[in-house]
Amino acid sequence: MNKKERTEKIIETLKSLYPNVKCSLNYETPLQMLIATQMSAQCTDARVNIVTETLFKKYPDAESFACANYDELCEDIRSIGFFRNKAKNIILCCRRLIEHYGGEVPDTMEELLTLPGTGRKTANLVLGDIFHKPAVVVDTHCMRLSRRTGLTKQETPEKIEADLKKLVPPEEQLGLCHRFVSHGRLVCTARSPKCEICEINEFCKTYSTQKKGK
Ligand code: SF4
Repeated sequence: MNKKERTEKIIETLKSLYPNVKCSLNYETPLQMLIATQMSAQCTDARVNIVTETLFKKYPDAESFACANYDELCEDIRSIGFFRNKAKNIILCCRRLIEHYGGEVPDTMEELLTLPGTGRKTANLVLGDIFHKPAVVVDTHCMRLSRRTGLTKQETPEKIEADLKKLVPPEEQLGLCHRFVSHGRLVCTARSPKCEICEINEFCKTYSTQKKGK
């Protein structure tokens, strides 16, 4: 089976295993999605959801975040890792949204990357989940699974993103990344992957190499 065929099988199998995948952050508007995603770096989505439940009531739009008092915002998000830096970026990001985009979240990679606190992972998540554009979201699970399964040999998120963009049909990209997260949490975990019971093991490079070595 060549790489293209293995990729198709992986996409198909993960789709049947995890039919309804979505981002596990809670949000109602594009701005909330952007801010929740920025806050989720080095922090669990569950913790972010606890904080944003009250945060988004206190700061309902870009203007209220842009005018927020820095020390007060730090207190509001204190239980999140790197809260000082994140509070600073949230304020600067919302100021830029007001100054350049009428308080709305833009819908291109180039524009999203100009927003403080917004890297390619956050930008892709916004493009995919909010604007329904093709998007490859390379988080820790996507990196691990795409490398273990042999879909890429690259090591940096940018290069992995480029490889997956070439290999995976645009309409499947976001779904595959979300499913890598689900499968990475349940089966292909970082420390002890459960290869023997893994439903995609027959299409996985790591598994076939292990078997050959036995
Ligand atoms: S076979 Fe093992 S390494 Fe490959 S995807 Fe499954 S759990 Fe991960």
